[in-house]
Amino acid sequence: MAKQEDLFKNVISHAKEYGYIFASSEIYDGLSAVYDYGQNGAELKNNIKEYWWRSMTQLHQNIVGLDAAILMHPTTWKASGHVDAFNDPLIDNKDSKKRYRADVLVEDHAEKLLQKAEKEIAKAKKRFGDDFDEEMYKETNPRVKRYLGERKEILERLAKSLTNEDLADVKALIEELEIADPETGSRNWTEVRQFNLMFGTKLGASAESATQLYLRPETAQGIFVNFLNVQKTGRMKIPFGIAQIGKAFRNEIVARQFIFRMREFEQMEMQFFVRPGEELEWYEKWKETRLKWHKSLGLGEENYRLHDHEKLAHYANAAADIEFDFPFGFKELEGIHSRTDFDLKAHEEFSGKKLRFYDPELKENYVPYVIETSIGLDRMFLSVLSATLKEEELEDGNTRTVLKLPAVLAPTKAAILPLVKKDGLPEMAQKIVDELKWDFKVQYDEKDAIGRRYRRQDAVGTPLCITVDHESLEDNSVTVRFRDSMEQKRVPITELESIIRKETDFKTWMKDFAE
Ligand code: ATP
Repeated sequence: MAKQEDLFKNVISHAKEYGYIFASSEIYDGLSAVYDYGQNGAELKNNIKEYWWRSMTQLHQNIVGLDAAILMHPTTWKASGHVDAFNDPLIDNKDSKKRYRADVLVEDHAEKLLQKAEKEIAKAKKRFGDDFDEEMYKETNPRVKRYLGERKEILERLAKSLTNEDLADVKALIEELEIADPETGSRNWTEVRQFNLMFGTKLGASAESATQLYLRPETAQGIFVNFLNVQKTGRMKIPFGIAQIGKAFRNEIVARQFIFRMREFEQMEMQFFVRPGEELEWYEKWKETRLKWHKSLGLGEENYRLHDHEKLAHYANAAADIEFDFPFGFKELEGIHSRTDFDLKAHEEFSGKKLRFYDPELKENYVPYVIETSIGLDRMFLSVLSATLKEEELEDGNTRTVLKLPAVLAPTKAAILPLVKKDGLPEMAQKIVDELKWDFKVQYDEKDAIGRRYRRQDAVGTPLCITVDHESLEDNSVTVRFRDSMEQKRVPITELESIIRKETDFKTWMKDFAE
């Protein structure tokens, strides 16, 4: 655990030191749960967006993009249910004055039971070796059975009381489980209350005529209200999808854990419109497709798990999260929801406009059903950083800090380094930069000894270093150094473009995982 906490601290300080993430308006001591992306962060973020956008809109003929405004007509949020139901249950500790999400306190307690069970299972696995039957063990070992049973019971009761808005029972559950303030150990809790997460703002000059607006808490509604615009102008046929990347805002009660839970963040969402009755088939398919997409980045298959929801949102008939093993444990990275026809129907009702599709095969008009895939860009960013930041022991006894970013996402694809700052080497290196810059983001660096420059590029995650030396002047060849293996290879300058492309190209990374 301590090691994981250290990793998280290292990720945060590394992100700052290497120009990935800064606190927002830092010179004024920052703004809670709001962050700025620095020179490398902006590039990494753009590359993640592009990886997602291309795999949605370029690899699928039936998915198109959209860029809707952040501000929307206020009735949108009445129709979507956000005005009435976009609440989190909060609870305060009377002694520490700290505020928590009541559901998260209970979920964390349940997670601890799961961890205890998993620990026992791992021990038994070691003991019994190949003969170990995990399912049987879960059924028969009394301790494991108790942990898992208690966990299930707790989560079911939480789901039930949240669905019934029975906040007194959530409080009772916290008391029965003797859940204490994680920071101080106090069990002196207030009642549980609901808190709406939308940020309000005003449109208009004078206070009397101003209209109450909201900063969108999700990008999805921009897609729903444009459903017919896109379907008609794009001549789209069901099934089809609309993808969008954009900012969303939530006044989170507890905004900790760095960029995991922010008040201003970015989402990458895709709403896939299908025939009524076919939604659960598509839901399964999208779960699988999205999991494959994540795995294509090579951050470790063991870092992902699917978690089916116990409590469904008011609009869903099935929902699952793709969870990632962050330094603070498995947490939601992406949500996949079968949203039924809830949103389109609600917008029909509130706007008085029909939002239907005429299906030429069925010769029928209907409101389509929707499967949503929704991923937080910033959470994805955090998953990439925390899975790739490594301290490595080298053969010579030294250590290096290396950010083993998937090359397709790396801010800089190659660093071009003249061995020394004289004898025409800088000029030759600069010429290589001028050639490669049309296709790739490359960086010229001549400061410090070559070993230090390699370390600097390792720490920032650059997959390739290209060194120009005296021999290069003679034979037009250079040394390419690979970040992960540290292997060095002599190659002709004319081959550089194809080497970089092979390492960093979207196709190289996505090909085996695409549908
Ligand atoms: P959580 O349970 O963690 O609050 P959620 O279930 O409310 O998340 P969704 O409404 O399903 O989240 O949003 C879709 C995705 O948007 C999430 O999977 C997550 O990656 C991202 N996301 C949601 N809230 C935040 C936030 N405050 N900061 C960063 N990313 C967020």
